[in-house]
Amino acid sequence: MIKRELKLYTVKELHDVFSSGKIIIPDYQREGDIWTTSDKQYFIDSIYNNFSVPKFYIRTNGVEDKWELVEGQQRLAWAIDGFIKNKFNLRSDKSIPQEMRESFFCDLDSDAVDKILNRVVEVEMVECTREEVREMFDRLNRGRIISSAERRNGIEGDFRDSCIDLSEHKMILGKVDGSLKRFKGHEIAAQVTMLEIEEGPRNLKAKDMEIAYKAYADSSELSKHKKRVKRVLNEMYYIFKIRESYMNFSNFLTIYLFFSELIRCYTYSSKKVCFEDYNQFFDDFYIKKKEISKKMKAMEPIPAEDMDFVVYNESLSNTVNKETLETRHSILMKRFLDEFPEVKAKDTNRFFTREQKEEIHNAAGKTCEGVEGFDCPVLGEVHELGYFEYDHDEEHADGGLTTIANGRCRCPECHSYKTSQNVKSRKSGQTLMF
Ligand SMILES: [Zn+2]
Repeated sequence: MIKRELKLYTVKELHDVFSSGKIIIPDYQREGDIWTTSDKQYFIDSIYNNFSVPKFYIRTNGVEDKWELVEGQQRLAWAIDGFIKNKFNLRSDKSIPQEMRESFFCDLDSDAVDKILNRVVEVEMVECTREEVREMFDRLNRGRIISSAERRNGIEGDFRDSCIDLSEHKMILGKVDGSLKRFKGHEIAAQVTMLEIEEGPRNLKAKDMEIAYKAYADSSELSKHKKRVKRVLNEMYYIFKIRESYMNFSNFLTIYLFFSELIRCYTYSSKKVCFEDYNQFFDDFYIKKKEISKKMKAMEPIPAEDMDFVVYNESLSNTVNKETLETRHSILMKRFLDEFPEVKAKDTNRFFTREQKEEIHNAAGKTCEGVEGFDCPVLGEVHELGYFEYDHDEEHADGGLTTIANGRCRCPECHSYKTSQNVKSRKSGQTLMF
């Protein structure tokens, strides 16, 4: 049976208990610092001006320490604590006396400090199981407007944890417009993970995301996908040096998809195109897109070569569905590959077959073919098929084909020397490797 007790705390008392470490935030409630500064300022404003604020909920379970804060985390751990620690200031608004506007906590006079610290808030102390906590909030939220992102955050598991983690990636956090809004970062992280799992465009509506949260709640596959998401985000972070004006939510997904496919299927890692070129390509694309959009509104004629932009503009909608993503993605890929023909599709076959190896081995006279600049330790020695390694002469990552003509028979030492030389030359190139 759930036990409840309503208690009144001053802000100071509640904050003191929190600072003492007695109140913890349970893993299943962990959200991170997701309120914007403005959200926090509003809350402090409500405290100061004596507006009503929601109750805090603490699960005590009858013990005197390790209370769990089950509701009010943003308010206590980030707004109140952050304000007292001078991490943000008061709003510049008529609700705050002129001389106090934009003041930090440390600059307030004692009356204002008292007013804030002595403000009384309601805390409901509950004793119940974790399942009952969830049930309780389910009931509380019934009839209240709750965002689908907020509901998804309640679906515990690997997928949610992965999204929380990815939402803190510097690319999402700093370079996508609007990602600092409550749960928006989680949503972006969920969507790119789903694109990575699908290896291409797919429906990304709230309902689809909820299914992914559940399907991958306990999945050993997920870490592989998460690793690939991080790789793509890392690249994007270095390519887009600033927060581009066009990097809104929907363009971000399209651009993500572009790099995901480029890294997976094209000779991206050969770095034939540098970061600045990618950045420039997107700058130009979105400037042109805007220009065509204006022409469309003014009913001006659109040149035939710009029809791609008309199709792109028409495919923009609020909900992200497979068709519109597909359309935008194929336009971007096509235009990019036309402009940069040196970027080639990688051979989908990465490994030589047994038959190919036999032919390569025979053609080499069953000896090591060696590498320039390295003394082969088994030069001219005949060895059996399994002794050698079968290597792409032009690297697979650079677009080298998995064919007999591009295959080389090398001893392990020669092969590893060649690989190390390759890694070196990539590192010394104009761009960074990850
Ligand atoms: Zn050798």
